Amino acid sequence: MTAAVYVDEAVWDEAVGLLRDHDDVALACHVGPDGDALGSLLALALGLRSLGKNVVASWGSEPFEVPPQYAFLPGLDLLSPPTTFPAAPPVLVTFDTGSVDRLGTLAGAAGQSGAVVVVDHHASNTRYGTVNLVDPDAAASTLLVEELLDRLGVPLDKDVAACLYTGLTTDTGSFKYQATTPAVHAVAARLLATGIDHAAIAREVWDTKPFGYVKLLGRLMDRATLENGLVWTFSTQEDFREYGVGMDDIEGAIDVLRTTSEADVAVICKQNSEGRYIVSMRSKGGADVGAIAVANGGGGHRYAAGFTGDADLASTIARVRAGLAGPARSAST
Ligand code: 5GP
Ligand code: MN
Repeated sequence: MTAAVYVDEAVWDEAVGLLRDHDDVALACHVGPDGDALGSLLALALGLRSLGKNVVASWGSEPFEVPPQYAFLPGLDLLSPPTTFPAAPPVLVTFDTGSVDRLGTLAGAAGQSGAVVVVDHHASNTRYGTVNLVDPDAAASTLLVEELLDRLGVPLDKDVAACLYTGLTTDTGSFKYQATTPAVHAVAARLLATGIDHAAIAREVWDTKPFGYVKLLGRLMDRATLENGLVWTFSTQEDFREYGVGMDDIEGAIDVLRTTSEADVAVICKQNSEGRYIVSMRSKGGADVGAIAVANGGGGHRYAAGFTGDADLASTIARVRAGLAGPARSAST
């Protein structure tokens, strides 16, 4: 069986050595964490705690709240707000975070820490660590954490498995996306064998939303525009207020939009509390949305990527159109 991730042996050894040699380890994932970021963070936090380490785990964005669909995850007691994060930790491990700026207010800690171990699978990863456990072909960051825990000799228990499975199921879109290999299913089987309730996890992550979400989804889809293989829509702060839902609640809206058979690329622009539009992009393969994101200061993968756009919706979507007309399209197969 081919491994689910590939990183040089020497790099694994360095990471394992650093974590074995230090009793105090700080852990951080990207701002506005998703299932893969949180699942990775909590799985390693639980694993290191079982080895008797002192761990501090956080992310650098406000408000410091676990998105409701991930509130079932084990190990939430290990989280602390970014304001209490050490300014210069001896070892910092980052998860699912392709560049230092994605650490938000914890970016400074990365600069001041003795060593940084980067655990990630973004193609756009800038290799900012002392040790980079980065595999752009890995379906999820939790796969790298699974391997790391094995190499640290941490036994796989049900709590750790639930965290790892959550990251795997969210980043593969329930095992639908291209990166889902036989090895990914083998890891999933190993996680299920611990006795985790995968049906309950799926229900929490995908199928439990407030009524306001369903109503807002209707509005977003009604507003969608289809133009030259691009389908896009947007959500404003007023929408969020009106329906009493937050930006985290509509994470799955793009999966409805992207079902549009006439479109290769689906985009949702979500207005943040500062008024700027956060752009989520998905491609079926004709365009490299990761390249469009990077060109606009963001990042991600070929098929799923994002960036922070402008306060103006028209100029934000114009950035996407320009990207699609440029190299992202011609670079495609
Ligand atoms: P989503 O649309 O689900 O928020 O993000 C899709 C992918 O793009 C995820 O892998 C996410 O980490 C990445 N991504 C989204 N927004 C940004 C951004 O502003 N900067 C970077 N570097 N990556 C992003
Ligand atoms: Mn991820």
